[in-house]
Amino acid sequence: MVAKWDDNLISRIQQANDIVDVVSEYLSLTKRGKEWVGLCPFHTDHRPSLYVSPTKQIFKCFACGAGGDVLKFVQMKENLTFIQAVERLAQRVGISLEGFKRRRAEQNNGTLSPTELAKLNTWAMKHWVANLWDKTQGAAAREYLAQRKISQETARTWQLGFAPDSWDDLLKKAAQENIPEHLLVESGLAVRRANTSGCYDKFRNRLMFPIADVTGRIAGFGGRTLGQDPAKYMNSPATALFDKSQLLYGLRQGREAIVKAGRAVVVEGYTDVLMAHQNGIKTVVAALGTSLTQDHTRVLRRYADRIILVFDSDAAGRSAAGRALEVCLSGKVDIRLAFVPEGKDPCDFLVEHGPAAFETVIEAAEDVLSFKWRQLNEQMAEQDSLPKQTETVGQFLQTVAAAVQAGQTDPLELAVLIGRLSALLQTPKSRIDEQLQRLLKQKPPVERTQQGSSETRTSDVDDQTAVTKARREILEVLIQEPGLYATVFGRFTLADFGSAGPMREIAEAGLPSLEAGQEPQPADLYRRIESPQTAAILTEMTFADGSKGPGARRLVDALEVLEVDRHRRDIESHKTHLTDDAVEPLQRIYGFLKQQKGNPRCGGLQ
Ligand SMILES: [Zn+2]
Repeated sequence: MVAKWDDNLISRIQQANDIVDVVSEYLSLTKRGKEWVGLCPFHTDHRPSLYVSPTKQIFKCFACGAGGDVLKFVQMKENLTFIQAVERLAQRVGISLEGFKRRRAEQNNGTLSPTELAKLNTWAMKHWVANLWDKTQGAAAREYLAQRKISQETARTWQLGFAPDSWDDLLKKAAQENIPEHLLVESGLAVRRANTSGCYDKFRNRLMFPIADVTGRIAGFGGRTLGQDPAKYMNSPATALFDKSQLLYGLRQGREAIVKAGRAVVVEGYTDVLMAHQNGIKTVVAALGTSLTQDHTRVLRRYADRIILVFDSDAAGRSAAGRALEVCLSGKVDIRLAFVPEGKDPCDFLVEHGPAAFETVIEAAEDVLSFKWRQLNEQMAEQDSLPKQTETVGQFLQTVAAAVQAGQTDPLELAVLIGRLSALLQTPKSRIDEQLQRLLKQKPPVERTQQGSSETRTSDVDDQTAVTKARREILEVLIQEPGLYATVFGRFTLADFGSAGPMREIAEAGLPSLEAGQEPQPADLYRRIESPQTAAILTEMTFADGSKGPGARRLVDALEVLEVDRHRRDIESHKTHLTDDAVEPLQRIYGFLKQQKGNPRCGGLQ
C-alpha cells in the first residue's frame, strides 16, 4: 500500500500530467462531446473504443475493459512497474523523487543493505559451522546427521552448522566482536524481547542450513530442531535478502546441472536436497517450507523449461496439483508431478533404494494437466458408476478456466493450452476453444485468500463466493455514491475485505478518504492501486450500471453477508481453545444467521 505522505507526492505528479496530453503522446485522440476518443492500444481496436475524460482524468476502453488514471496508462503502455511509472511521469514534469525513493527503500529493506546482511549471515554461519565440528558441543547434531546418513563431506560442502540450546550463544559471540545487537535483530538472527529490554537468539538447539542465493550470498537460514520443539523447521524472517517466494535451496549448487539436464526437480525438505546431491543427482532443489510460487517458476525457467515436483504421497500431490496447474499455466513452463512410493520422503528413499531408483521415480513424473484430468475422472467414478464424458470434460475445463484466470494467461499461451487440451480430451480444438472462452467470460476472477492451501470444501467455496460478491457490492455502491458511507459508518473495517486480493486493494485505496469525510474521485483511487488488473476491476465497478436497485438497500444487504462471515471467522479462530460442547451451539447460531442471509431481501447476493 502507498503510504500517506507518498500519496500526496504521487497526487502532485498525477495532477501535473494531464491525461489527455500524455495519452496523445502515444496515439491520436479526437474530441467527442466532453471526452476524447481514440484507438485502444491494449487490444486490437478497429473503431475508437478508448475514452479519455479530461474532467475525471481517467481513461476507459469500452471493448477490452482496460481503465485507470494517467499513471496506470503509462504503466500499462510502457510495461512498467507502478513505481517506474511514477518516476517516468515525475521526470516528465520535473518533480524530484529523492525523498520518496529513500522512504520506499527503507520501507522495503530496513536499514541494512543486502551486502551488509550477507556479511552478518556469513559471520553467523561460520560460528555455527565451528559449533558443529566442536568435539563436545556438536556431538548431538553430528549424531543426527549420521542417523540421516548425511556424510561429513556433504555437511562440510553445504556448510551445515549447529545453533546450541542457549538463549545467547550467538549474542555473546557478537558482543565479543563488537557487533551491535540491533544488527542481529534486523538480520533476523536475534529477536527483541516483547516486554523487557534485551534480545535472545532466534535459532536454538537447531541444525542450521545456510541458504545461498544464486550469486552465492548467504541470504538466510533454515533450522531443524534437534529437540522436541513443535516447530520442526524455522526459517529466517523476510529481509532485503531473504525472500522465501524467490529463493530455492540448492539452486546455487545445482544450477549448472539443471541447465545441462533441462530440468529442475523440486523436493520438500533440505535433507532431501542434500541426499540427492550426495547421490550425484544435482538437479534437485527445495522451496523453503512453502509450496512452489509463480516467482519460483520464473526463477527456475531461466535454467530449465521442465519442473518436476516430487511428493511423498499421492494425497500431498493431489492437494498441490490445483495450485501447480495454475502456476504452470501462467508460467509458460512444463510442470510434472512425481510420487515417491511407500510414502517415504526422498531422503529415506534414496538411502534405501539408491539413485537409480530415484531417477526412475522422476522419469515416471506425470504432466500436471493430465494428472488433474485423471484425478477428476477418479472422483467422478467414485460419485457415479457411469460418469458422463461431456460432464467430466465440462468440469475439467472449469478447473482450467479458473487456473487461467488466476494466473492471467495471455492469448498466445491460451492457444497452446487449447492444443494440449484437445489432444488430452480427444475433443476438437474448436469445441474446447468455444467452451473455454464461454467459461472465461462467465467466471469472475478468483480471489485467492490462502496461497497453496488444499482444496476447500464446497460449502466454504459457496460462502466465499457470497462474501466476495458482498465485498464487491459494498465497494461498488460506495464508489458510485460515496455519500452513503455516513449511513453505514462503523459497520465494517478494512479487515472485512480479506488479507489480500483486488477487493482488499480497492478498500485500502478508498476507505481512508471516506473515513476522513472525503469523497474519493476515481483518479484518487487509481493512484493508490498498483496493479493494472485491479485497476481494470475498479473500472468495471466505477462504470457498472445502476439498474441493480437503490444503493442504500444493496449496501445493507451486502453488510449482512459480511457480518455473518465475521461470526464464522470468530468461531473458527476460537475453535482451537474451545471444547466440542462449546463449539456446537456457536455453529448452530452461525447456521441460523446463514439461513437469515437466505431471506428474500438478500436474494441478489446468493
Ligand atoms: Zn481496449
